[in-house]
Amino acid sequence: MGQKFETDSRRLLGRLRDTMAEDAAGQARLDKIVHLIASSMQTEVCSIYLFRDEETLELCATEGLQAEAVHKTRMRLGEGLVGRTARTRQVVNTADAPAEKGFRYMPETGEERYSSFCGVPIQRLGNVLGVLVVQSKASRQFTADEVYALEVVAMVLAEMTELGAFIGEGAALSARHQQAMMFRGTTGQEGAAEGNVYLHEPRVVVTNPVADDPEAELLRLREAVDTLRNQIDQMLDEAATVNADQVQVLEAYRLFANSKSWMRRMEDDVANGLSAEAAVEKEQSLARSRLQGSGDAYLRERLHDLDDLSNRLLRILTGQGADTGAEMPENPILVARNIGPGELLEYGKTLKGIILEEGSVGSHAAIVARAWAIPLVIHARNITTEALNGDAVIVDGDQGIIHLRPDDAVKAAFRDKIAMQARAQERYASIRHLPAQAKCGTVISLNMNAGLMADLPSLPSSGAEGVGLFRTELQFLIRNQMPKRGELSALYSRVMDAAGGLPVAFRTLDIGSDKVLPYMKPQDEPNPAMGWRAIRVGLDMPGVLSMQLQALLRGANGRPLKVMFPFITQLSEFREARANLDKVIERERKLGHTLPSALEVGAMLETPSLGFAPDAFFEEVDFISVGGNDLKQFFFAADRENERVRRRYDTLDSSFIGFLEMVAKRCTDAGKKLSFCGEDAGRPVEAVAFAAIGFPTLSMRPASIGPVKHLLRRVDLREVKAVIDEARANGELSVRQAVTSYLANQ
Ligand code: PEP
Ligand code: MG
Repeated sequence: MGQKFETDSRRLLGRLRDTMAEDAAGQARLDKIVHLIASSMQTEVCSIYLFRDEETLELCATEGLQAEAVHKTRMRLGEGLVGRTARTRQVVNTADAPAEKGFRYMPETGEERYSSFCGVPIQRLGNVLGVLVVQSKASRQFTADEVYALEVVAMVLAEMTELGAFIGEGAALSARHQQAMMFRGTTGQEGAAEGNVYLHEPRVVVTNPVADDPEAELLRLREAVDTLRNQIDQMLDEAATVNADQVQVLEAYRLFANSKSWMRRMEDDVANGLSAEAAVEKEQSLARSRLQGSGDAYLRERLHDLDDLSNRLLRILTGQGADTGAEMPENPILVARNIGPGELLEYGKTLKGIILEEGSVGSHAAIVARAWAIPLVIHARNITTEALNGDAVIVDGDQGIIHLRPDDAVKAAFRDKIAMQARAQERYASIRHLPAQAKCGTVISLNMNAGLMADLPSLPSSGAEGVGLFRTELQFLIRNQMPKRGELSALYSRVMDAAGGLPVAFRTLDIGSDKVLPYMKPQDEPNPAMGWRAIRVGLDMPGVLSMQLQALLRGANGRPLKVMFPFITQLSEFREARANLDKVIERERKLGHTLPSALEVGAMLETPSLGFAPDAFFEEVDFISVGGNDLKQFFFAADRENERVRRRYDTLDSSFIGFLEMVAKRCTDAGKKLSFCGEDAGRPVEAVAFAAIGFPTLSMRPASIGPVKHLLRRVDLREVKAVIDEARANGELSVRQAVTSYLANQ
């Protein structure tokens, strides 16, 4: 890159910055900018298109095209060459635009006179905000240097757009981060909440995209990168003694931080007039758009590393820490790209709602949100880039919709909806003390799922008859070190006290998969959900299992105790776990500790194999609890955390229902208690179907008990069973349609 090129580029950026500093309206700024770019690049046309809404680009300023077309010419994402630039996030550079595939002629602009076209996406952190276009009459390809200069300018335009420099008339010019926005995601947990954004990982705000003094700026960049490298070396030293896997990740970071090409590209950007921060973000944006387009898991991981590294570098440059000191606002709604169950537990129940850009309905973080009845919307694309700390936000968990910075009309409609929900809650409260007795007389036992001490107060108010699943691992997840036996037994004792004599089924530790204990060495497994988890860990580390069992026995202190082992896949595993328990009981007896007055030992049926276990299994267990979340994932071979595949399979699929019915029959034949404790038990239609095929007990999050009981009390389970049988006899692949239309007529 030549000296003159750099000087020209810097001069242009300097002028752009002056324009930004001027006290002018947004439109006037844009008009000036397109004029500056056209004259600096010596092109007849320069235009800026910005997004009007998620799908539509609008011509917001032009030098060279007909002025009347401004704010009139619009195109959809993907439409024409401008739309293609935005959709592909790639530069479109052509000497003969009209001959290009997809070219769209817009007569109002008068652009037919221009042959060459170069469109560059205006993007920030993988988020396309608009398109910068230059056109000229002469038929020629723009050179690599020219395209590069346009990319640098587009980066500054992105920062300016972000900072609201172009606020003006019309949606496309409204201030970013000020306009009302709606996001469509997926329901993770029903319910509605109104509150204020609290970002899990606050974004670094760059306020100076253009540098005054490139030499000084280069020095800043190099110093920051040196600091970054030192930080990584230090982290490596600390990790080396404790965690080999973390070392691997850090080694990858070190490679990136020492990458000459990464450094050179940023240095070039700075030499051309960008500030160090803008140069880092330009690289980060490029990596993000590659990340979004890549299906290669390995590459995605590496690009994620680079993203993380760029954030660290930005924090060093701006002095903004990971914790920006933002106070938790009133009625906080957590906004995050993704979150693990442990991190979520740290926030506690103070959250009013949760919005995730990624996430999955089947994840344990979602289960925690559900246990707390906190509305959760997942897959809200771009929410982390659009939302700012403190922004007003409405989470509509029923529809999977988010209203960011909602206007008054939206707020009013939403409050009506909340009032309606409150009325439904009153209805449920009125039947709280009544049994879940269907019209045919059958009474279904409804239990609640829990995992924290804080869940227990919901027991009386929900109307549950006990705790059907107590996920003990949540206690392990919220700590920084392995809890001690004494702590655990005290906790279990308090749980039983809080349950006030109602039964609690304690499930032993189910770690592994997405539940990684911060103080245990993470396993590098290709398929952790099918890997070393749950009882498999317990049997391989009998010391931990025994410690927990002992804590349970001591916590019971003479009261009845119910224990169940997770993820049993074959009889031998149950026998081994049971033998471990018997050994612990024997030891406790010898030590003179009080033993439980009654003991029930069950297994969770979470893999199809157990449904086909020998009769001896059904004879040896005291009860079986179907963990439908895992069972469904293994029955259909569909990852419970992968929305794409998870949603393909219906819980009321005839073959799945057939399998569950077989399990119910085997339990009845063996005279064993059976319950269903996966998330589906809390969905009223599914709950009615399970009850109809022979599940006498259902365990669900407390908030579901009202709606499930309400529906159960209105149906005749014999009729539901007949409807299911008829649908299957008719060859229906799912019984859902038949069951829902029956229910609609009740
Ligand atoms: C299940 O798999 O259905 C279950 C209840 O266990 P978890 O969701 O904790 O894996
Ligand atoms: Mg499970």
